[in-house]
Amino acid sequence: MRDYREISLWKNVTPEEWNDWHWQLSNRITDIEALSEIITLTSEEKKALNDDLLELRMAITPYYATLMDPNDVNCPIRMQAVPTSKERYTAEEDFYDPLAEDRYAPVPGFVHRYPDRGILLVTDQCSMYCRFCTRRRFAGEVDRPKSREEIQAAIDYIERTPVLRDILITGGDPLTMED
Ligand code: SF4
Repeated sequence: MRDYREISLWKNVTPEEWNDWHWQLSNRITDIEALSEIITLTSEEKKALNDDLLELRMAITPYYATLMDPNDVNCPIRMQAVPTSKERYTAEEDFYDPLAEDRYAPVPGFVHRYPDRGILLVTDQCSMYCRFCTRRRFAGEVDRPKSREEIQAAIDYIERTPVLRDILITGGDPLTMED
């Protein structure tokens, strides 16, 4: 792990800020300019990022960024966070919604995984957008928690569906939701 104070972008950040998850979330790296200050991007990568960030959501927490090898494009930590053009390739066999979650969503934000088990999607915001995400069709789409009204509508559905006995609260990072 690199010392964050050696990265110009964060040289004035206090340890209290650095260790505060609110600060980490608020200071995610979301554009090529900031990313260029942390890792060395090849010209090919820069071109790909310029083109692809219009379609591929990127967000990397500063802490995670210090774990990336700044000079190795094959660093596995870096490959989990930095988009590449290959992600835009889709094969004929690919499914938009491989788990058919949209089909089994009786109300927005709630999906029946099984008749008696469901998932409550309370946010689409993740502190980092993983390049391997299986929910990329909506992870980061609006990059915020669902509204209270949206969540309440899903809770109302759960209340009037007594067969449900197991609810997983998820989405992006549900534990980073703020009031
Ligand atoms: S939903 Fe999970 S896997 Fe997908 S980007 Fe968010 S944290 Fe990563």
